[in-house]
Amino acid sequence: MLKPSTMSEIDIRQGLKLVLAKIEQACSKRNKVKINCEVIVVVLKESRFQELSVVEPRLVAVSKTKPVEAILEAYNEGQRNFGENYVQELEEKANNKLILEKCKEIKWHFIGHLQGNKINKVISIPNLYIIETIDSKKKAKKLNNSWAQFDSKIRTFVQVNTSGEKEKSGVSPDEVIEMVKFVKDDCPSLQFNGLMTIGQYGYNPDDGPNPDFLKLVKCREDVCKALNLSLKDVELSMGMSDDYEQAIELGSTNIRVGSAIFGYRPKKHELEK
Ligand SMILES: *Cc1c(COP(=O)(O)O)cnc(C)c1O
Repeated sequence: MLKPSTMSEIDIRQGLKLVLAKIEQACSKRNKVKINCEVIVVVLKESRFQELSVVEPRLVAVSKTKPVEAILEAYNEGQRNFGENYVQELEEKANNKLILEKCKEIKWHFIGHLQGNKINKVISIPNLYIIETIDSKKKAKKLNNSWAQFDSKIRTFVQVNTSGEKEKSGVSPDEVIEMVKFVKDDCPSLQFNGLMTIGQYGYNPDDGPNPDFLKLVKCREDVCKALNLSLKDVELSMGMSDDYEQAIELGSTNIRVGSAIFGYRPKKHELEK
């Protein structure tokens, strides 16, 4: 691995402030996007969707590869939701003495690929708030059975592979209804909270609304109709540093932002070299 960049090359406080300001701006643009796209026009015009425009999205600060000090700094600025991709890194950070002592209200989001053999590690993470990456019935069942030892349910998002890329996890858009039904009907220890996508990297927003975001919006529509759920009870986790504003305009309720807050992070393929 490359050496993690030295601290405070970027001012985390400034980064957070800027992102929060842009979130607010993007919220105010919701429902005002004029776009020539059949799906989205239909969905945005849905009156039930209009109600959703008041939902302020949750900012998840993605701290992967960044040191504990960076998390403490963001926490001190009021940030509470943090996301990590790698089970071991999350385990170390969540159990860190300083984090346990000083960040009592921290909410951890597991946003990485969920491996069946790591589920028992994931469930023992202190202050685990949600697992965003449920991508198969088998893993949902396994997580459900492990979580049964606790009184409360664990929040989950079902991950959808909206871009259809082989290297991305998630159920395909046509499997979403069945997957959500399975979580709701057959996994009593899991709470179904919404849908999550990563989508294709490098999409240029000048080319119009991101097709991955549109697909996730459509998936929610389908799930709600099929299972008779209310749109406001099904969250959308979409949008990262490069595209969270667009994601919010299209109704994201949970954005996962790393580098715009914590500064540059070598891409995975660069780390592996
Ligand atoms: C790394 C990561 C993010 C944050 O990426 P940035 O581009 O740094 O904002 C968000 N979601 C997932 C699933 C990630 O792996």
